[in-house]
Amino acid sequence: MIQKILIANRGEIALRIVRACRELGIKTLAVYSEADVQSLHVQLADEAICIGGPRSSDSYLKADRIIAAAEIADVDAIHPGYGFLSENAKFAEQCESCNIKFIGPKSHSIKMMGDKAVAKDTVKKAGVPTVPGSDGPVENETEAVKIARKIGYPVIIKAVAGGGGRGMRIAHNDISFAKEYHVARNEAEKAFGNGSVYIEKYIEKPRHIEFQILADSHGKVLQLGERDCSVQRRHQKLIEESPSPFLTPDLRKRMGKFAVKAAEAAEYENAGTIEFLVDAKGNFYFIEMNTRIQVEHAVTEECTGIDLIKQQILIANGEKLDFDQSDVKFEKHAIECRINAEDPARNFAPSPGTIGLYYAPGGHGVRVDSHAYSGYAIPPYYDSMIGKLICFGHDRPTALKRTYRALSEYIINGIKTTIPLHKAIMSDPTFMEGKATTAYMEDFFARTPTDLFS
Ligand code: ADP
Repeated sequence: MIQKILIANRGEIALRIVRACRELGIKTLAVYSEADVQSLHVQLADEAICIGGPRSSDSYLKADRIIAAAEIADVDAIHPGYGFLSENAKFAEQCESCNIKFIGPKSHSIKMMGDKAVAKDTVKKAGVPTVPGSDGPVENETEAVKIARKIGYPVIIKAVAGGGGRGMRIAHNDISFAKEYHVARNEAEKAFGNGSVYIEKYIEKPRHIEFQILADSHGKVLQLGERDCSVQRRHQKLIEESPSPFLTPDLRKRMGKFAVKAAEAAEYENAGTIEFLVDAKGNFYFIEMNTRIQVEHAVTEECTGIDLIKQQILIANGEKLDFDQSDVKFEKHAIECRINAEDPARNFAPSPGTIGLYYAPGGHGVRVDSHAYSGYAIPPYYDSMIGKLICFGHDRPTALKRTYRALSEYIINGIKTTIPLHKAIMSDPTFMEGKATTAYMEDFFARTPTDLFS
């Protein structure tokens, strides 16, 4: 059995991994940047090693230093969390070659799914519906315009190496296409060091619905239901829930089957997510696979009662999943709100600083995953998410009311957060009726006075 795990991450996910390891009797090693000395995961892990300066490029992205720390501390495995090196095939390969278990899929699956054009092609060949678009990356502008016309406007230009909602541009005609094509390429080159782009039909007002996958190294692939992540701002998720208020039992069943097919096509092992867009008529299309644990995994944990981080570790340890698809029961409705240190009333300007009083809500059906505490100084170098509020109950109305109640109890003084925005959304009729698509936030901002969420 794995004895000690290095956690190659920070923030709430690092803490989440420490907690799972504690319960499994596994020792933990935190690696941290100079800016994270006061971080909770550093204090709660069994051991901690500083690996460099505040910027991620000097610490959390320094693969060699992380491997060196793993060797010095004699760990058997590395959990990459999400972001940073979690979808870096080269890092997974490095771990494999140093005989350190990478808690995630094999590097070839990361590579295959990491190129979004290859991923689409792979699952398409396995019969999974994909968004109509170019066959792989487009070579040049002339070819690209031809394809865009053939698909029919509007189209979306997407970076093959894209992630985090970046490197995507929408075009409505030949003229805007020519401009957006170059913008997308430049953005992708800057953000991912790879300017390659592909084209897809732009689906109007879809829902983003994704399926959680667990696959062991013995060939068993299971799906743990869906998460509706349609509430997004600039293609970035703000709220996630399960089950989706939109899916019928029949559609859920069909999508679940295709999700498993897609994971099988990727020769997948460990926890992963198959993302789909679903249009108003219920047509669904694969868009990408995330080959790691996701921020919103807690939603699935509360609906199914399955601890996904523990399952990831057991799978990496070579164990068989000890349950079948028919054992997976969906007994709860769960809603997650991302609590970001941002000012929603000022165009989501980052709001780092020192938290004064911090008080997290509790009570029946409330879970808070956060590394924040009273007096914690939020470093300005990283993602602005400082916590996740997950509320659950036997049905959606209960989960909704509970989320509103918990948000009302949440105190984070000294900085601006997304808490007031979430409260406004929880009492907004469109969201309450389960009608939010990916176009929801834009519409919400257009019709809601700023003082209602500041
Ligand atoms: P990333 O990897 O950057 O998260 P995704 O491919 O997962 O990018 O897409 C993120 C979001 O962008 C989706 O949830 C959706 O809101 C929007 N999007 C992506 N592709 C399309 C499309 N073809 N039509 C409409 N919206 C899209």
